[in-house]
Amino acid sequence: MKTETIATSSGFEIDGTGATNPPLYLSNAYQFENAAHAKDLFDLKAAGYIYTRLNNPTNAVLEERLNALEGGAGCVVTSCGHAAEFMTALALAENGDEIISSSAIYGGTFNMFSHTLRRLGIKVKFAPVNKPAEFEKLVTEKTKAVFVESISNPGCEIPDFDAISQICKKHKIPFIVDNTCTTPYLFQPKKHGADIIIHSTTKFLCGHASVMGGAVIDCGTFDWTSGRFPAFCAPDPSYHGIIYAKDFPQNAFIIKLRTQTLRDVGACQSPFNSYMTLQGVQTLHVRMDRHIENTLKLVEWLEKNSKIAWVKYPAVKGSEYKNMAEKYFGGRSGSVFSFGVKGGFEQGKKLIENVKLCLHATNLGDVRTILTHPASTTHSQLSAEEKISSGITDDLIRISVGIENIDDIIADIEDALK
Ligand SMILES: *Cc1c(COP(=O)(O)O)cnc(C)c1O
Repeated sequence: MKTETIATSSGFEIDGTGATNPPLYLSNAYQFENAAHAKDLFDLKAAGYIYTRLNNPTNAVLEERLNALEGGAGCVVTSCGHAAEFMTALALAENGDEIISSSAIYGGTFNMFSHTLRRLGIKVKFAPVNKPAEFEKLVTEKTKAVFVESISNPGCEIPDFDAISQICKKHKIPFIVDNTCTTPYLFQPKKHGADIIIHSTTKFLCGHASVMGGAVIDCGTFDWTSGRFPAFCAPDPSYHGIIYAKDFPQNAFIIKLRTQTLRDVGACQSPFNSYMTLQGVQTLHVRMDRHIENTLKLVEWLEKNSKIAWVKYPAVKGSEYKNMAEKYFGGRSGSVFSFGVKGGFEQGKKLIENVKLCLHATNLGDVRTILTHPASTTHSQLSAEEKISSGITDDLIRISVGIENIDDIIADIEDALK
C-alpha cells in the first residue's frame, strides 16, 4: 500500500464490535489466560499484553501504523520525542561511549546531548551537517551512533543522507534520522540508509497540537553482531538471559528498547495520546500538501518584502540545500523555515509580539501558523557559540506555516511588520 492508504488504515482490523475507528483501551493491565500464558508473555514467546508501561492495544495500532509508514521492523511509541531520543541513546550507549551528531539540531536535543548525556558519561561530538567528511573524522571505536535531523529545526539544513550513511556502513555504526520535520509522507529515511528513525509525534503526525508523543522505529537493517555492540550479543542479566541479537535477529534493537529501556525508564506513551495521534495520522498527507502549498506562497511573498533581510527555505533559488531538497524530498522541504527581519533582535521580537492570527508559541506542525523567535525562547539557554553552531542568529524568526487561508496569514504578517 502507498503512504496515504497506510496512514488511514494500517495496523487496525475491525473486531467483533464492528467499530470502524481503533478503540481507546484505557487499561493498565491485562488478564492472563493461565500461568503458562503469563510465562510465555514474559518470555516474549507469545504476543500479547502485560502492563501498559510495556505495551497497550491502542498504542500498538499507532506503533504498527508508524512502522508501516516508515517500512520498519518494529516501533515503540514513547511519551514524547525527547523520550524517544533519550531512550534510543540509552539503549545504544553507556558510560564511556560516544555518539556523533549533526550540530544543526533542535535546541532541546542539543541540550540533552551536550549536557545530560555527558553527565551519564556518554560523549556526544558534533559535526557540521553539510560536511559528511567531518563526521567520519570523529569516528572512534567507542562510537555507537550517528544522529541527524531530516531537515534541521529551525535552520532548514538538509544532510546528504546517502553520503553520511556510507560512512556509517563503512564503520558499522547505526545511522539515526529524526524524521519529525519531514514525516514519512515527504521522506522515508530507511531508503537512504537510516537504521533507526525517531519522531516527535507531537508535531505533524498528531498535527492538531493536542497531545505529546514520540516514536522509535527500528528499520531492521543493522547487524548488531558486527563487533561494536557486545551488549546486544551477550545475555541480558536484567531480562533472564535474553540475547537480543541472537534471539531477535530481525529487530533486536526495538526489542531491547522495549523490554529493557522502556521498562526501566518508563517514558511510555499514554494510550489516550496514541488515540489522539491516530486521529491526526489519518489526515497527514492532506495536511502536509496544504502546509507546503501555503509555505511556498509565503516564502515567495517574504522574499519580495523590503522589511525582510533574508529567507532560508531549501526549495528556493540560491539555497545551499536546494539540491538536497530535490534529491531527497522531491523539492518539497516541509513547512518550517526561518527568515530574518531587518533590525535584528528587537525587530524580531516586535514582529512576534504584533501578529494576531499567527500564534506566538513554541511548537511546530500545528494546523495553525506559529511564529517563534529562538534567540529569546527555545535557544536562549545556549551560549553564544552554541547558538552560532546551531545556526541561530538574533534576527531569526522560525515559522511553522499552518493550513489557514494563505491570504489571511500574509495579511497578519504584513500588519505586524507595519
Ligand atoms: C520537538 C522536537 C523534538 C522533541 O520532541 P518533544 O515531543 O517535544 O519531546 C525532537 N526533535 C525534533 C526535530 C523536534 O522538532
